[in-house]
Amino acid sequence: MRIFELTNILNAMIDEISNYCNRHEIVLNVNEVTFGDDYIPFEWILRDNPNARRSEGIAKYIRNTNSISISPLSSQMIWYIAWLAYRIKNNYDYDNSEYIIQQLIAVDKGENNAPLNLLPNWDSNELNDIFCYAMSFLICHELGHAVYHHPGYYDEELNLRDPEMLKANELEADSFAANCIIEISNNDESAKYGILVAQLAILFIRNENVTYNTHPEPATRLENIRQYFDFTDIMQIFIEIVQDLSQNYLDNRFVH
Ligand SMILES: [Zn+2]
Repeated sequence: MRIFELTNILNAMIDEISNYCNRHEIVLNVNEVTFGDDYIPFEWILRDNPNARRSEGIAKYIRNTNSISISPLSSQMIWYIAWLAYRIKNNYDYDNSEYIIQQLIAVDKGENNAPLNLLPNWDSNELNDIFCYAMSFLICHELGHAVYHHPGYYDEELNLRDPEMLKANELEADSFAANCIIEISNNDESAKYGILVAQLAILFIRNENVTYNTHPEPATRLENIRQYFDFTDIMQIFIEIVQDLSQNYLDNRFVH
């Protein structure tokens, strides 16, 4: 899938993230970043509960192995959102959003005919950069949890920790990631779009029943990000389009 084709760009960005940490004397002790298959629920789980995939999120920091795992499935969705950002940023036509929704739902349900390479212009360097910066932001967000030694969502007795503290931790991880990505990109416009793509991907992946006990509302996270760079008018349009698109998607994605 696409992310593996972009490994060189992504690895270069991860090197830059590592340099950023060295420059700022941030102690980072993460063993590896993986794209683990185990992150996607097995087929039989999906058969029993087709919505199970939605509770898996995009990326997570796994404390006991000190590693970061990225969901390949979510990466596929991020690719679509990056593509949309690229189209809107360049004032290209994007009015096939219904088609995109159908593709997203097909990807979400793991249908065989939901490949990424149906999208045009996939070989644009700019699009690749937006996508890789979005992925880098997500990785960085998880690194932020590691850097600040945030505890997991649950305590030793498996009780959910204080939601207000957990939400504050999420904003702290977002801020860490935004600072890092802006710096390593030298304020590149593609990086800003990448950050927005990563933030907006949450709209597609959230599970309202559980997410808001541990994570702030997407709008709150977007406001937090606004501190790190100005949103241009086109970015604002992109945000609104993706918000509408995600609502449409959420209304249709579940198997009832
Ligand atoms: Zn987080």
